Formats: sequence, C-alpha cells, structure tokens
Amino acid sequence: MQHRTDYPRSDHQVALVKCGSYDRVAEALCHGINLLGGLEKYCSPGELLLLKPNLLLGDKPEKGSTTHPLFFQAVAELFKSGGTRMVYGDSPGFGSPQAAVQTSGLKTIAESLGLELSDFLNVMQVSNPDGILLKQFNLAKGLRGVDGVINLPKLKTHGLTRLTGAVKNLFGCLPGVQKASFHASLKDPSRFSKMLVDLAEHISPRLNIMDGILGMEGNGPRNGRLRQVGIVLLSTNPHAMDHCVAQIMNLKPDLVPTLRVARENGLYHPEAIRILGDSLGDCVLPDFDVNRSLASVTGSQRLHLKLLKRWVTPHPALIPDKCSCCGRCVKVCPVNPKAVRFSNGFRQPPQFDYHDCVRCYCCQEMCPDAAIIIKTPMLGKIANHLKL
Ligand code: SF4
Ligand code: SF4
Repeated sequence: MQHRTDYPRSDHQVALVKCGSYDRVAEALCHGINLLGGLEKYCSPGELLLLKPNLLLGDKPEKGSTTHPLFFQAVAELFKSGGTRMVYGDSPGFGSPQAAVQTSGLKTIAESLGLELSDFLNVMQVSNPDGILLKQFNLAKGLRGVDGVINLPKLKTHGLTRLTGAVKNLFGCLPGVQKASFHASLKDPSRFSKMLVDLAEHISPRLNIMDGILGMEGNGPRNGRLRQVGIVLLSTNPHAMDHCVAQIMNLKPDLVPTLRVARENGLYHPEAIRILGDSLGDCVLPDFDVNRSLASVTGSQRLHLKLLKRWVTPHPALIPDKCSCCGRCVKVCPVNPKAVRFSNGFRQPPQFDYHDCVRCYCCQEMCPDAAIIIKTPMLGKIANHLKL
C-alpha cells in the first residue's frame, strides 16, 4: 500500500452534512467533499482505491448493521467520476466475504460498477515500526498495491469500543482468525484499543466517510434498534470523526477507549477539531442508547476498578427464550477454554463462565438471534452512579 505524500493526515476537519434518506446521499456526499476542498484533493485519475465498507456478517440492508448499498454506490460513483479505479473488501466476523457481499446487497452494486472483490481471506505480513503496541500486522492481501483506502464505517454502538466508528471499522482489514487471536491475546480493552489505533494509523485511510443516515443504538453492532440519525460525515482523520460521533451519541469521547488512546498518544487533539457544514449541536441525540458506564474502563488508569473487574464490568448474558442453540457463540468465543459452552449437548442454551470470559463481546455481536445482551452488574451500576 502506498500513501500520497500530500495527503493531509494531521487535518482535524470534519464535514457534517444532514441527509435524511439514502435517496439523497449522492447530493450529500458531493456537498461534503466540496466542504473538504473538492474531490480532486482526494483522488487522481488512474489511481487504484479500495473501498472498505462495514460488512459485519453481511446482513440484509434493512437490518441496519452494514454500510448501506445505496451509500456504497454513491461513494463508488463519486470516485469513479474522479477517474479512479476501485476494488472493495472486508473480512466479516463470521462466514466468507463472498457470502457477506452477496447478502448485504453490495455485490450487485459492485458488479454494476465494475468493482472487484479484493482478497480478504489471505494475509500479508507488514511491519509497523511506529506502532504504539504492535510492530507488525498480518493484513488482508487485498490491500497490496492499492494507492489508498476509503473507509466507509456505519454509525452504530459496540459492546467493547462503545461505537463502531472509523477506527473500529478497519479491524475488518485483518482476515478471520487474526481478529480472534487479538481478542484472545489483548484482553484489556485499552490494549485492544492500542492495537486498533495502530491498525488505523498504519492503514491511514485517505478519507473516512460515515454512513450515519440510519444508525443503530442499544445492543449493537448487530442486534440493536435502528435509529434515524440523518447525517453523513467525512474526514481524513478517523479519530476526529469518531470524536464527533461520540458527541452525537451524547457519549463522553474519553469513554471510547480508542479515542482515549489516540488522544493520549497525540494522534488527535479534540480542541483542534473543526466542523464544516451543518451544526454538530443540532445533531446531538441526548437520549441515544449507548453504554456510558465508567466501569467498562478497565485500563490501568482505573486500577481500583480493575481489581474489582469481575464484579463491576459489564458481561454477556443470555436470554434463553431467544436462543436457538445454534452454537455460533461457542464457535466465535476466542479464548481457550471457551468461556461460553454447552453443558447438555445442543439441547439447552449454552452457559457462560465469567472467570474465563475476557469481555470481548464477540458472542453478543455474532449471535444470529439477538439472544445475548450486555449486562452491567449491580456494583458496576453503583460505581457508575458514584462516578468512580
Ligand atoms: S449464538 Fe445465540 S442463538 Fe446461537 S447458541 Fe449462542 S446464544 Fe444461542
Ligand atoms: S463468552 Fe463472549 S464475551 Fe466472553 S470471551 Fe467468549 S465471546 Fe468473548
């Protein structure tokens, strides 16, 4: 992957454009990119760009868990008008990229525009000497040879990182098993977030364009409630964009572990963020359902809570009536021994072992029946209330 040297990585500008419907997204994108200086600033004829949508598990568009196909189409058409060549790809949390692009509706759009699906199954090793935590990655091979990445996150909540913004969306640049191994080895959310920030800095998308038209709140990133947010965000700086998303969700940005890591390492400066276009204040949703628990912050900075982690940290919990005993949660649980397992064949719902559970919430994210929720224990609620 090569980077253009004139790409303004340290920029803190975020274009915010209100957009109430996917029918109007092309117009909103055009306006947004003009606010940031125009399309020609972000692409040149003949370049090869990779579009990185959020495929999650490849749900149908109406579920609201993936980058919407009409959004994807509008971005692809915009860059096509700039004369670029494009490919696209993502590694879903479960199943193959081929199946996920089919069900999410992206394949039809991509084929109609001549975009090929990149290799997000095989890996290439890249070194990352400037990393905060990781000095090398096994990235999707499909990133090889592209001139830049256009990151297309979806505005949603997330069990581990609070929101699935621009930084978290790039986790899909690690093929299948790589993701699971990081969940198992980087148990502390702040270490896991350092890895995510390292990855985002390494990939350094040329532009991040967020699908915030139809968002998701509550039990995200897959089984939450749809929420009309009605915005499109564009920025070269993924941290500045995520900071704005946190504010729109009425969530303190420092409660987003990736934002905390990025700020502490000087990768973004909240006071330097400049919003262009519509007013952010007008877009804030005070009642947005997102995890605002302080007790989830289990980094070393909250040592007294870390000692009580088991009793204060939110944990996955099962709703037995909804469980179809499919076994997917057991399959995706990254730790050994599994922290969620069947004790009576597949006849009864599985059970959690909270001692082994690292609170990665992969089971909650991947459950096809929304049978797993995240619960905060009573002591955690008290700690939140007392702002410990
Ligand atoms: S993934 Fe969900 S439905 Fe399947 S066994 Fe686990 S809890 Fe039950
Ligand atoms: S039980 Fe769920 S939250 Fe706990 S480690 Fe396994 S997948 Fe992660």
